[in-house]
Amino acid sequence: MELLENEIRKNGQVLDGGVLKVDNFLNHQIDPKLMQELGNEFARLFQNTGVTKILTVETSGIAPAVFAGLELGVPVVFGRKNKSLTLQDNMYTTNVYSYTKQVSNEISISKDYLSTDDKVLLIDDFLANGQAIAGLLSLCKSAGANVVGIGIVIEKSFQKGRRWIEETGIPIESLARIASLENNEVVFVGEDTK
Ligand code: 5GP
Repeated sequence: MELLENEIRKNGQVLDGGVLKVDNFLNHQIDPKLMQELGNEFARLFQNTGVTKILTVETSGIAPAVFAGLELGVPVVFGRKNKSLTLQDNMYTTNVYSYTKQVSNEISISKDYLSTDDKVLLIDDFLANGQAIAGLLSLCKSAGANVVGIGIVIEKSFQKGRRWIEETGIPIESLARIASLENNEVVFVGEDTK
């Protein structure tokens, strides 16, 4: 998606360890107009899948997921990283290792909001090694919900998540695909490397 690639070129910062910092529009400050465009694009890409619910994980997946939900007319549920006092029982839970924070988080979702009737679209901000998506898939499996697609805002195609998801057979769409972050330079899939 050209709009997103331009935003990454303009505001993305490459950090050590193959990490892209996009705090300017996605991970800290949020650009609502851009989020709406991303959400609309997810809605267009997955409009024929029969999706009944969008599942993401807090925090940064929520903004694009909400705009996709608005356009598709379906609710959005987010996996919670810390169990609140009001959310003790009746939960599906899984462990997810965070690529950027290098700690394991327990992710929970209430059994009230995911069931065998659901056709779920998973949305997340980044795809690296695929741990976050694996966690969301595991929650859907526990609930007996059917996953009809995976939407990623920024995919780092040089890491192993993409290939692993393709092997599951679940349709995946990434709005920006990064081939390399070497030498502090963002190179998108399909762009010539020098
Ligand atoms: P994965 O679980 O696929 O290994 O990593 C995806 C998760 O890690 C995303 O939900 C995101 O929070 C975080 N993440 C992974 N790589 C990056 C990155 O390069 N930049 C940022 N901002 N977050 C990342």
